[in-house]
Amino acid sequence: MSELWSPLVSRLTPYVPGEQPKIADLIKLNTNESPYGPSPRAIAAIREATGDDLRLYPDPEATALRDAIARRVGLTAAHVFVGNGSDEVLAHAFQAFFDHGDPVLFADVTYSFYPVYCGLYGLPFELIPLDEAMRVRVEDYTRPCSGVIVANPNAPTGIALPLSAIETLLAAHPSRVVLVDEAYVDFGAESAVSLISRYPNLLVVQTLSKSRALAGLRVGFALGDPALIEALVRVKDSFNSYPLDRLAQVGAQAAIEDENWFSESVARVMATREQLSGGLRELGFEVLPSSANFVYARHPDRDAAHLAAALRERAIIVRHLKGPRTAPWLRVTVGADEQCATLLDSLRGILLSNS
Ligand code: PMP
Repeated sequence: MSELWSPLVSRLTPYVPGEQPKIADLIKLNTNESPYGPSPRAIAAIREATGDDLRLYPDPEATALRDAIARRVGLTAAHVFVGNGSDEVLAHAFQAFFDHGDPVLFADVTYSFYPVYCGLYGLPFELIPLDEAMRVRVEDYTRPCSGVIVANPNAPTGIALPLSAIETLLAAHPSRVVLVDEAYVDFGAESAVSLISRYPNLLVVQTLSKSRALAGLRVGFALGDPALIEALVRVKDSFNSYPLDRLAQVGAQAAIEDENWFSESVARVMATREQLSGGLRELGFEVLPSSANFVYARHPDRDAAHLAAALRERAIIVRHLKGPRTAPWLRVTVGADEQCATLLDSLRGILLSNS
């Protein structure tokens, strides 16, 4: 802290990212990356773009990429906004839509970047508790607000809402943006994209970091009514008019167009998720029904922090979040089959050695 800092920065509590370890040979099941590589077509496109053209600025409108995304979901490029990871897209959306004086509503528990953006942009917010089963109850989101943000599936629980619940939120707040963060939607939840033509207040945000295995490229996008996209472009152009570098634009476009690679790797992750959930239940864990590429599990009589530390000693990292509702739980990314088998063996050993 320094007296040179503005009061706002002094008050900020920044997001604490999941560990990105500096040593290799760890089984890394802590930040929901894909165990499979990105589309080979994406890698080839990036290689090809790594030449003299890098001296030129990229397309500030990322037209080819936005066209490819629009084609895939049956919308037009005017419905698509792209940014450096969905984190950046979310940041622009908070600034573009949530400054109406009332609180922004989101769940306690959900993605912990949302309160950070509220702090950064001076936006009040209200946390709406999950129910006993750790589910979002949309009936609780009726108070006057500046907007609603819901992660679907939610993180870190992995539980998905049906589209009828998203429609309840949209209908309850027709003059506010309802932002649906679909970072994990491809692993079995229903996307709200099909509602965009009927709800001008709906903004859907997705990422290439999870189901397209491109977390390192940093590409996310928003889909919504062209008037919402125009607002995001205004914010972006006031911040950095080049949303994505040349390599990210071509790599993301190739990844979006490689439907086979995408659907095969998603299907593999979903199959492994069911095995992992079953294996954890056999070891006595309660496992929430996951529609994501991670599972959320707790043991009735073992301390989660202790389990995470014991796994770490065995070179496996999972995510353990402190906090009143999250402390008993472990969030485990669905890795490759062998990684999940090693995790289950290690947990079995830890549980036996402590009993
Ligand atoms: N939303 C949710 C719910 C997430 O868990 C994440 C990943 N941490 C993101 C958005 C951001 O992902 P990215 O910036 O890699 O697109």
